Amino acid sequence: MKRKCISLLMLIFAYSISESHAYADDSSFRHAFPQPIILIDAGHGGIDGGTSYDDILEKDINLEIGRRLYIILRSHGYETILNRTGDYALSDDNRWLRNRSRHIRDLAQRKQLSEELPSEIVVSLHVNWGKNKSKRGPILLHQTEGRSAFLAASIQNSLNNLYGTSSLPQIGKPFYLLNHVDCPAVIVETGFLSNTEDRDLLKSKRGQQKIAEAIYGGIVQYFTAI
Ligand SMILES: [Zn+2]
Repeated sequence: MKRKCISLLMLIFAYSISESHAYADDSSFRHAFPQPIILIDAGHGGIDGGTSYDDILEKDINLEIGRRLYIILRSHGYETILNRTGDYALSDDNRWLRNRSRHIRDLAQRKQLSEELPSEIVVSLHVNWGKNKSKRGPILLHQTEGRSAFLAASIQNSLNNLYGTSSLPQIGKPFYLLNHVDCPAVIVETGFLSNTEDRDLLKSKRGQQKIAEAIYGGIVQYFTAI
């Protein structure tokens, strides 16, 4: 899978050098090659609600933002897949891994999906929680690999503009998804459910749309630059 990703990128790179950089901004350029697939991972689901505040559940926010991001990307011609479209646990689909931990089966299923599809990037959506209620804003987590770091920086920058923050992306060392997915992958901690200001944005339809648009802006910046 890794080799497939790299060879596709090298092909695009070689093409842009041998022909003209002008093609890089032309939407027909993207159609000259098999369309890269953007995999959106809507974190948690089903029995696994993620973090919560009263009856506001992280899994629902992730799904709402994921759906909106999916629609925006598709309407701009990007091949996109949302790995869950309803409220269920991905571990239920995993009948191939014998592991007593539902959590591990869930994470392994997310990784498996990214391998079965020729995904170019994986964007995993989550919501944060802090003991310190004043902690707020988006945080991007990335792999040690350069493209993942660049994708994280692009989305972080775009979300910082929305939130009025200046947070920096971080390497997400302990995260299963980042350690096991071969393509560039990032975890988007969209905001803190424990913070009043962030919560207002995360739970409202208007806020969810703005967050999805900001993530989209970061993804576009990534694909324009690489
Ligand atoms: Zn989460």
